[in-house]
Amino acid sequence: MRFSGLRVLAEGLTGNRGWRPHWRDPAPKPEYDIVIIGGGGHGLATAFYLAKEHGLTNIAVLEKGYLGGGNVGRNTTIVRANYGLPGNSEFYSHSLKLWEGMEQELNFNTMMSQRGIINLCHSDGQRDAFARRGNAMRNQGDDAELLDRAQVREMLPYLDYDNIRFPIYGGLLQRRGGTARHDAVAWGYARGADQRGVDLIQNCEVTGIDLEGGRVTGVQTSRGAIRAKKVGIVVAGRSGQVAALAGMRLPIESHVLQAFVSEGLKPCIDNVISFGMGHFYISQSDKGGLVFGGDLDFYASYAARGNLPMAEHVMEAAMTLMPVIGKARVLRSWGGIMDMSSDGSPIIDKTGVEGLYLNCGWCYGGFKAVPGSGFSFAHLIAQDRPHEPAAKFRLDRFTTGRGLMDEEGTGAQHNLH
Ligand SMILES: Cc1cc2nc3c(=O)[nH]c(=O)nc-3n(C[C@H](O)[C@H](O)[C@H](O)COP(=O)(O)OP(=O)(O)OC[C@H]3O[C@@H](n4cnc5c(N)ncnc54)[C@H](O)[C@@H]3O)c2cc1C
Repeated sequence: MRFSGLRVLAEGLTGNRGWRPHWRDPAPKPEYDIVIIGGGGHGLATAFYLAKEHGLTNIAVLEKGYLGGGNVGRNTTIVRANYGLPGNSEFYSHSLKLWEGMEQELNFNTMMSQRGIINLCHSDGQRDAFARRGNAMRNQGDDAELLDRAQVREMLPYLDYDNIRFPIYGGLLQRRGGTARHDAVAWGYARGADQRGVDLIQNCEVTGIDLEGGRVTGVQTSRGAIRAKKVGIVVAGRSGQVAALAGMRLPIESHVLQAFVSEGLKPCIDNVISFGMGHFYISQSDKGGLVFGGDLDFYASYAARGNLPMAEHVMEAAMTLMPVIGKARVLRSWGGIMDMSSDGSPIIDKTGVEGLYLNCGWCYGGFKAVPGSGFSFAHLIAQDRPHEPAAKFRLDRFTTGRGLMDEEGTGAQHNLH
């Protein structure tokens, strides 16, 4: 089933009776060449690129709940490539390029909106750091513009520029950054993988990983044992638990991140804005809700909901940056479980077990990584060698100390990244 303007028109005129389910609901087979654990954005994109780029289709994606019910459906949908460190810089640059071609590649409307992201700065030191970051982005071939206070005021007149503690000095703008519809990204990759023959198996929790003589031979699941030559772990906040099934202890802690949405309003915020002092960020969804969030809750947890102190902090930051927001009512809030690595950068690598591959450590920035991560993880699994843009996301950097990528400069504490 392909989507086109003509098709939408024809279906509209004939009572929308011709649409078919986007993917099958197959029973698990006893054996696959490749099993991907986790039907989130990264797992589904991995399966799609394994099929599309490498011609491998005897694949199952095993999801313990429903497809896209994890963080991929809970995030604030920001897409950007504004990293400064080598390793991160080339990876996110590659990922953003994939975002730009995603709707055509998937034949699916993911509502990619390159509305621009502005990171505000509030001191001379922060402006210098943004200038350096902007130069790194341009060196990588991506766009970056350093805006002064007047330029920011012209774009975002509703912010408080003269706040006594956090005056706005300027901002770093990436026009190619923006937002996309998170569920649609999961659905688009799921549909694309299914069309190429991948089995997407929902309500199938992996409860064990079978090993023999130092290599993986399959998985135990709530729907029975499944043999596999290769297994990829892509379970975001559950990475520590699932890796433990193979006897591994990861440099990952799981933490809660909350987000909030207001009632629907007329269009008022055209871009994505991030507040450099209070760790607050905001954009407006296509339905009109103001979507915003802030920091982690700071304690390790597997509960996909947060607590009130962080909700209060986020509201305070919102009022400091943009007092007019006080007139809007909050509609709801939710949380997701973040796989926080100890240097704040991800892992896409082989493990010490032959045939077992690991993809995790996305912290709270893994939505924008979905296409790049899927592409690179598929390359690693298919070819047993790293894909160049993700080659620095090695697991052994946490034992050797070489190649750590601490983008925020906050040290080795997971919850500070
Ligand atoms: C509130 C919030 C805001 C965010 N905002 C942004 C943002 O603006 N921009 C950005 O880039 N990132 C953002 N993120 C981060 C981003 O959402 C995540 O980094 C990313 O979605 C993680 O990858 P995923 O999509 O594969 O994870 P998930 O969707 O969580 O997928 C993992 C899947 O694995 C499944 N699973 C777990 N254990 C098992 C098992 N044993 N067997 C089978 N399946 C299993 C889970 O059910 C889940 O569906 C945000 C996250 C949250 C929570």
